[in-house]
Amino acid sequence: MTFQEVSANGQHNLLYQGLPAAQQVLWNQVAKPVHLRAGDILFEPGDALRHVYFPISSVVSLLGTSSEGECALVATVGYEGIVGLPALFGGEATVRALVQNEGIASRLEADQLVKAFHQVEAVRRHFLRYAQVFVMQIGQAALCNRHHSPEQQLCTLILRTLDRRRQSQLRITHETLAHILGWRRETVSLAAQKLQAAGLLQYARGQISILDREALEGVACECYALVQRGYARLWHAPGAFQDPAGAVLESP
Ligand SMILES: [Zn+2]
Repeated sequence: MTFQEVSANGQHNLLYQGLPAAQQVLWNQVAKPVHLRAGDILFEPGDALRHVYFPISSVVSLLGTSSEGECALVATVGYEGIVGLPALFGGEATVRALVQNEGIASRLEADQLVKAFHQVEAVRRHFLRYAQVFVMQIGQAALCNRHHSPEQQLCTLILRTLDRRRQSQLRITHETLAHILGWRRETVSLAAQKLQAAGLLQYARGQISILDREALEGVACECYALVQRGYARLWHAPGAFQDPAGAVLESP
């Protein structure tokens, strides 16, 4: 399947689609749609960035890691962005890129991106605008990890993931959530139980159903709306980049 065929199916990456038409035509010849499986690691800190990824239906978590094996969520990237942004600046990977939800992404050789970034002013402006919002998301994550409750952080992660999926349901295990958020599984379970008691989630046959998206947004920390607004401004589309309500989380 070519990138054009993926796009023709209504699936696209907003950052890619926002590029100058001539650049898209050029990259359509060399970008390859790839299927990313949940749990795949695209790169680890220190890895050379040979490829960058424009997620289409997949969602990738960027995780800070410690020498003790601990993780913390730095950013979530879906069809609004790119995985491997440091390649633009000639750098190596600084975080772990873990595929959180399986799906398609368009893969491009990093050299192609760097070449266009340096040679085409419109491409450079486009990625710098994106980088500004992306850096804001990272800064907000530092505050979020330090000051916001597990229930708030869990709601924010669920909403961000829903926004990046073109489905009304979401499947993700407690174990994966614990890994991404850098928590013990018990912390995930306790936070999910509190949200269930508040009527936002429901356990059923090993799954957690989202009952009330609006209420979920009410519990989520301010980080969700702040970053959401940043990306909406980027695409000049207030309220854009939001998918239907209703989600199912798969419990262990
Ligand atoms: Zn937060």
